Amino acid sequence: GQWVYRFGDGSAEGRADMKELLGGKGANLAEMAALGLPVPPGFTITTEVCTYYYDHDRQYPGSLRADVDGTLKAVETSVGAAFGDTDNPLLVSVRSGARVSMPGMMDTVLNLGLNDETVQGLARQSGDDRFAWDSYRRFIQMYGDVVLGVDHHHFEELIEIHKEERGQDLDTELQAEDWKILAGRFKDKVAEVLGHPFPQDVGEQLWGAIGAVFGSWRIDRAKTYRRLHAIPEDWGTAVNVQAMVFGNMGDTSATGVAFTRNPATGEHAIYGEYLINAQGEDVVAGIRTPQHLTKAARENANHAGGNAGPSMEESMPDVFSQLSDVFVRLETHYRDMQDIEFTVQRGKLWMLQTRSGKRTAKAALKIAVDLASEGLIDEKTAVTRVEPAALDQLLHPTLDPDAPRDLLTRGLPASPGAASGSVVFDADEAERRAKAGDRVILCRVETSPEDIHGMHAAEGVLTARGGMTSHAAVVARGMGRPCVSGAGQIRIDAKAGVMTCGGRQIAEGDVITLDGSSGEVFVGEVKTLQPELAGDFATLMRWADTYRRLRVRTNADTPPDSKTAREFGAEGIGLCRTEHMFFDDNRIVAVRQMILADDRAGREEALAKLLPMQRDDFEGIFREMSGLPVTIRLLDPPLHEFLPREDSEFAEVAAAMGVDAKALKDRAEDLSEFNPMLGHRGCRLGITYPEIYEMQARAIFEAAIAVTTGDGDPVEPEIMIPLVATEKELSILRGHVEAVAEAVFREKGTSVPYKVGTMIELPRAAICADRIAGAADFFSFGTNDLTQTTIGISRDDASRFLDPYVKMDIFPQDPFVSLDVDGVGTLVSMGADKGRAVKPDLKIGICGEHGGDPASITFCEGLGLDYVSCSPFRVPIARLAAAQAAI
Ligand code: ADP
Ligand code: MG
Ligand code: MG
Repeated sequence: GQWVYRFGDGSAEGRADMKELLGGKGANLAEMAALGLPVPPGFTITTEVCTYYYDHDRQYPGSLRADVDGTLKAVETSVGAAFGDTDNPLLVSVRSGARVSMPGMMDTVLNLGLNDETVQGLARQSGDDRFAWDSYRRFIQMYGDVVLGVDHHHFEELIEIHKEERGQDLDTELQAEDWKILAGRFKDKVAEVLGHPFPQDVGEQLWGAIGAVFGSWRIDRAKTYRRLHAIPEDWGTAVNVQAMVFGNMGDTSATGVAFTRNPATGEHAIYGEYLINAQGEDVVAGIRTPQHLTKAARENANHAGGNAGPSMEESMPDVFSQLSDVFVRLETHYRDMQDIEFTVQRGKLWMLQTRSGKRTAKAALKIAVDLASEGLIDEKTAVTRVEPAALDQLLHPTLDPDAPRDLLTRGLPASPGAASGSVVFDADEAERRAKAGDRVILCRVETSPEDIHGMHAAEGVLTARGGMTSHAAVVARGMGRPCVSGAGQIRIDAKAGVMTCGGRQIAEGDVITLDGSSGEVFVGEVKTLQPELAGDFATLMRWADTYRRLRVRTNADTPPDSKTAREFGAEGIGLCRTEHMFFDDNRIVAVRQMILADDRAGREEALAKLLPMQRDDFEGIFREMSGLPVTIRLLDPPLHEFLPREDSEFAEVAAAMGVDAKALKDRAEDLSEFNPMLGHRGCRLGITYPEIYEMQARAIFEAAIAVTTGDGDPVEPEIMIPLVATEKELSILRGHVEAVAEAVFREKGTSVPYKVGTMIELPRAAICADRIAGAADFFSFGTNDLTQTTIGISRDDASRFLDPYVKMDIFPQDPFVSLDVDGVGTLVSMGADKGRAVKPDLKIGICGEHGGDPASITFCEGLGLDYVSCSPFRVPIARLAAAQAAI
């Protein structure tokens, strides 16, 4: 194969799309050269050489040396200088370049080719002694550090000592003579540390640097980075060798970095920094303060009280205008915002790197929409340019980046968004305070279903225990409340009304601020910025919707959540969990009465109290979702979840039922289960206590009729039976629902259309989906339970091993966050196929946490499901992910 690819002088052997072979840097240098942009000539040694090197005991391919020598000759001719020549030396940089930029790889070595003799030639040739000796000492320093392993602090120390001796403060005050002395001391230091002299042979220097790049592919830092970012070991890195251009040749020279648009805001304005008379990484190294590129940026900085020096636009107007032209050309060519490195040598501009620039979600959105309006990309491409998960950052309030802050501690970023409020330690208290108009943050060791009303009332939730899939995290995400979970340094003493953290005390009523996107907790109020959902966001979502096939519904249990979801574009409800309604303070007594009753009559008495409340709930939701389908899941959780724990609670229920508290406790004891998630729950409740589901079905039908006859908007209730394993369960319960429907329709003298379907959330249901489909109008894959039951892990208990499992790559990802495609996915696929084989028009959706996960949505698109359903705040993410999956 060809091991070496040349670029420069308006042509190149490589292209931008050859990143696999040339690495990102090399491919883009070739592309820029071929575009006729001013790129110093050079060549790229391919990633295949890296692979060869490791396959052959760190030997190079036989012809490599000759190829490098030959190509270097071409570079010499182009530049008009010769490598190692004592009168007119060619200097080069040696730059690593994998396919994706990868910290941990070897740093760039500049000014390679200098030694005690060529430095004299460089001084004569340039007529600038200071420049020559500055370049030489830089080279010894970089090569010493990067290739020879002599730590850079050795060199910095020598510079400091020298400055002290001479009473100099700044590097810029050092003259030719100073750098010459330092170059000598640097060489001595290298010899001292290594026991042999700094290499004077330029060939040895070159191959030393090339070997260091290839060698750095396998150092621990690089390996760790690849593991964390799923970059394959066998990709290898390329090496770029390029003629030097010099930004350190006095005041008409400079070096800089730029983005063609603002990477934080997306604003269409050049954004970047430069330094006069400097080289390479000086801009980012912080030795001197770099200056702005544009006059506008410089003025802004000074208005804000800064002390910025002249911008490049002001100090080098001609070069700046060339640079602006290059930016336009690059953007037009790459059709994306670019991140650029450049150098100016005595008034001449040179391009050293370009790549697509990293950007915030906000910038990604604006840039995608702007590029489409500018005609550089079409709307379809714009839709692919924004990462769906990144939208999360935009849908919630964020901390004002300029606001002062006082960090208390960190936990897990469990639910995004920022909020401030006074600390409360109890859900009831949170609700009371919120009703009184206070903004509160609910702080708990961990949360349980009984805290839901408090979480709803709070601006945000903080827990000391629990992971990303803990109750607090899941519920908070569903409600769109910011949540920091597992803040392990916090000790909560709810009785005393204080929490402590690292020696600080926060009392009930004190104000704190949560950033659920970063997991940070701050003392006091930090200013927040509200999300901007009109404008670019709305535009991109509109474009996405034109490419989307999958419908997007929401998981919502209350009218306010339904409203939020509808504003985010939800096309119905895919999962309305009825049990959350049962926890309400006014109802829990009746619910407990129903559960603890020991006969049907007792249960019916309690259910009669619940019926009007449930009907109200459904009416509210139907009104918010008018014209759209609403899937309501009948009662699912094991009854023990609703039971009293405290004696006082038992007494309250006993009083309401007119029975003895002791007898009630015994009954509660009877109901306790060893393994409640696999116990008496889901449709098993409906089978054994038919009156519960009958009450719920009645509430649904009565509400649907009330809403329909009220304002005429049709509602389409879809009644969903949970945890079905066999077709018998479903057909029995379907029969009950149909009987209730008939009864209600007869009483009211009118009817509404409805569907009866089932969750597919047990492996048996997926395996026997063809039989179950006989009794179902629709399937909804409940992938939370299906994941638990397929893998045999409990979501609530998995945190202890799930983390290590993911770290050890036993699971590629947390299967509760992103669908386990191989296992659970196979069951979903089998269930969908078998169901449709029997009923081609069976409506099929998915309603687990996965319904809002882009990778899982892509999988659902592949199966041709009808819809995904996710929490309200994930609806836009799902819309965009579904569009991208369809494109
Ligand atoms: P990184 O991948 O860390 O950005 P680079 O290979 O891009 O490393 O090199 C860093 C900097 O070194 C560049 O931004 C540029 O300023 C300087 N540099 C690299 N090659 C040359 C060269 N041939 N001439 C002048 N400066 C160079
Ligand atoms: Mg670079
Ligand atoms: Mg379930």
